[in-house]
Amino acid sequence: MDQMTLEPHYADDCIFCKILTGDIPSYTVYEDNIVKAFLDISQGTPGHTLVIPKTHVQDIFAYDADLAAAVFSRIPKIARAVKASDPAITGMNILNNNGKVAYQSVFHSHIHLVPRYTDQDDFKMIFKDNSGNYTPADYAAIQEKIKAQLEG
Ligand code: AMP
Ligand code: ZN
Repeated sequence: MDQMTLEPHYADDCIFCKILTGDIPSYTVYEDNIVKAFLDISQGTPGHTLVIPKTHVQDIFAYDADLAAAVFSRIPKIARAVKASDPAITGMNILNNNGKVAYQSVFHSHIHLVPRYTDQDDFKMIFKDNSGNYTPADYAAIQEKIKAQLEG
């Protein structure tokens, strides 16, 4: 594993880096050498937790494979702990916003663990079904554009 990518470094004016350095307090539930997990101040639903890399990385596009493996491998364990903390939690949405348009407001990458209680709780997510507007040729054109970026 490339230790360079995992070595903590902090960015100026980053609220989550300030949480990492202890300059801003947090309700930490877990930390190790790679990640810190703490309660999201908004508590979208009770137990809403953020998991952040201990090194400043802006968004998913900036991860290398080693950092991604290290960070994302911690998610199931933390998710299980959040779920086990309250028997009323029956599911969980795990999301990661990248870019302002995708609702990212803190530009230090983080993964939201949002416990779900009922379909009437305070979390909503809408996937519009646009499949009626797509021909097989439309799908194939999109498929080829993405595949081309992954080749070579
Ligand atoms: P996002 O909109 O995906 O960038 O999520 C950023 C999240 O950070 C929001 O859900 C905020 O409630 C949360 N947040 C901002 N400041 C703090 C803080 N000091 N401690 C805990 N959570 C925070
Ligand atoms: Zn940061």
